[in-house]
Amino acid sequence: MWSELLPGVLERAHRSDFYRSRFGARPPQASPGEFARIPLTTKDDLRARYPFGMVAVPRRDLASYHESSGTSVGGATGSFHTAGDWEEMLDRFERGRQDLTDADTVLVRVPYAMVTIGHQVHGAARRAGALVVPADARSTAMTHRRVLGLLRDLRVTVAAALPTEPLLWAACAQLLGESPRAYAPDLRMIVATGEPLSAARRRRIAHLWDCDVTVSYGNSECGSNLAGECPHGTLHLWADRYLPEVLDPDTGTTAPQGRGRLVVTTLRREAMPLVRYDTGDAVELSYDPCPCGWALPSVRVLGRWEQGVRIEGRRLFVSEVEEAVYALPPELGVLFWRAHAHEGALTVRVEAEPSVADRVESLLKAEVERLAGPGCAVQVLAPGTLVDREELVRSSHIAKPRYLSSGPGAPSGLMYPAPAAAGAPS
Ligand SMILES: [Zn+2]
Repeated sequence: MWSELLPGVLERAHRSDFYRSRFGARPPQASPGEFARIPLTTKDDLRARYPFGMVAVPRRDLASYHESSGTSVGGATGSFHTAGDWEEMLDRFERGRQDLTDADTVLVRVPYAMVTIGHQVHGAARRAGALVVPADARSTAMTHRRVLGLLRDLRVTVAAALPTEPLLWAACAQLLGESPRAYAPDLRMIVATGEPLSAARRRRIAHLWDCDVTVSYGNSECGSNLAGECPHGTLHLWADRYLPEVLDPDTGTTAPQGRGRLVVTTLRREAMPLVRYDTGDAVELSYDPCPCGWALPSVRVLGRWEQGVRIEGRRLFVSEVEEAVYALPPELGVLFWRAHAHEGALTVRVEAEPSVADRVESLLKAEVERLAGPGCAVQVLAPGTLVDREELVRSSHIAKPRYLSSGPGAPSGLMYPAPAAAGAPS
């Protein structure tokens, strides 16, 4: 299938300034040997060709511009889409397990600026006829406390969010004296996206919110979701839309599956085709059969490759440490952690109540030692040390500037605090 599609893909890519200068007068032949010799396209290439150097269609065909979410340093990596790209993107998202319908109320608590994800979930929910709540995740007007109010008041059924968010909402609910479920009586599913999600953190979120959790994985420069879940809960890479390769960064060679950095070639992208694009994500890709019967590889996303740390002679990724932390029994109440590697030794810091601190330390030490060897350390800190609880329940709002006012005192400044926390849960 790929061999049939690749000549067209390379031909389309060749219409951009970048690939024309890379390929020369003609696009390369698409034989497997020749394809494997095409240099990887990197984030630096996208930055160097900002803003229009990767575009392969006329300006009038461009529908939207986006940038990646800043998971790496070095400036914006732009991404363009045509109207056709948007339809194809929504088709892909719809394959996932979320099964949106016109009975759903969908809280979109993922960024709208500048990434694609908020617009993708918004568009897919509208296409399904659902009621959309565009809460955003980068707005100072939308505190965690306000999100809880929306979940409850609008009887939200599906929430799309970074998987960090439901943990923050849960801690916020607890500080306000309620169980998370009391704020989300109708919540049936959380669509986790934008961060790797380990199996253990997924179980913890499902436990806290008493609802299903599904994962959508992708990035803005490739055209949003690259993978979604089958009915069996396996994350599958959309290999009929993206030709995947797994790069061994030490040798520079790629393989069809295994552990390494994910490289993809867009097979359907119109506005900005990417050929052998190095996503920078550490993954495990496998063609082992899944009970769903889909002819698509499964993918486990481990984290950003460059953020992996060398421990005990191997590269350790964020989702592996996360797995150890959330393997702790839920009744110990550990929600927040950070880990730091220095001179080959890992220190994991978690928040826990003093009454369970000893138990947390001994259980987590055993897990982390299994993962990172005997040189690692665990520090148990008081709640609030890693995540400021006052900040978590903050209910202040930012309003528009007020040009005409009355009463004592006249407001001034760039940002204006709203007089009351409208909609915040009481
Ligand atoms: Zn499956």
